[in-house]
Amino acid sequence: MPICGVLGWPVRHSRSPAMHEAGYAALGLDDWRYQLLPVPPELFEETVRGLPGVGFVGANVTIPHKEAAAALADEATDAVRAIGAANTLTFGPGGRIHADNTDAPGFIDAVPFDPAGRTALVLGAGGSARAVVWALLRAGAEVLVWNRTSERAERLCAEIGGRVVQAPLPAADLLVNTTSVGLRGEDPFNALPLSDAINGYPCLVDLVYGSGPTALVSAAQAAGATVVDGLEILVRQGARSFERWTGRAAPLDVFRAAARGETAAA
Ligand code: NAP
Repeated sequence: MPICGVLGWPVRHSRSPAMHEAGYAALGLDDWRYQLLPVPPELFEETVRGLPGVGFVGANVTIPHKEAAAALADEATDAVRAIGAANTLTFGPGGRIHADNTDAPGFIDAVPFDPAGRTALVLGAGGSARAVVWALLRAGAEVLVWNRTSERAERLCAEIGGRVVQAPLPAADLLVNTTSVGLRGEDPFNALPLSDAINGYPCLVDLVYGSGPTALVSAAQAAGATVVDGLEILVRQGARSFERWTGRAAPLDVFRAAARGETAAA
């Protein structure tokens, strides 16, 4: 029985088990299982090294373990090395640990146009911003980065690329919110230097998700922008991990329904 799971602390509210289990059911992968793995930081490495011995073929990694996952891997992709974080571990013969970052290609999968030659404005300079900036640069976009703490944006751009900008923010083909603003219902128009009309951004990707649309998503929709929400980003990174482990294309609509808590279509 191949087993996968998601390592996090806390991880109780993760939607990954619902997505992956629905995917297994839809594709007839009846002996596959996906488990929540709540693991505190001090037990992370020991737990990961024990997983292959008890039937695990892979594991997703979420807050706060992504950097630790990149550091302990025996092999890592270019994305992991450049971003400094891994969200997908695959266990090989002898328990060898391969680390990948599906947040980066998953993000590009979700952007509804080819970013090559387009301008992207990324808000934030934390862990998810690193994956987004790296992915957009690799896809050929011009990337501008704004962060509340400007030094952190300077550091990100020095390490990965992109150009730091200050308020007032310039227009761009794509606006990406990688800050945690909106997670606890904060007003994005107080916390971020955006006008509530969100003029100048025909497409918004908001990584934040909760039980309903974020205030940023609602405002962008009202302004007529194309919007990609945080659940779609979650679905796309999960789909890439699923494909890596099972060798099968992930059933995206089934993943979407499960992520949104709806009954998955057959
Ligand atoms: P992180 O490393 O902790 O970075 C947090 C970022 O938010 C920093 O840039 C921080 O700015 C900024 N920030 C926090 N509070 C702010 C405020 N009041 N005003 C302005 N900026 C503020 O977090 P992360 O891992 O990048 O995650 C960021 C968000 O993305 C979280 O909400 C997370 O749930 C979401 N996320 C979603 C997905 C998905 O699959 N949809 C995947 C990854 C992350 P400073 O540097 O100034 O503190």
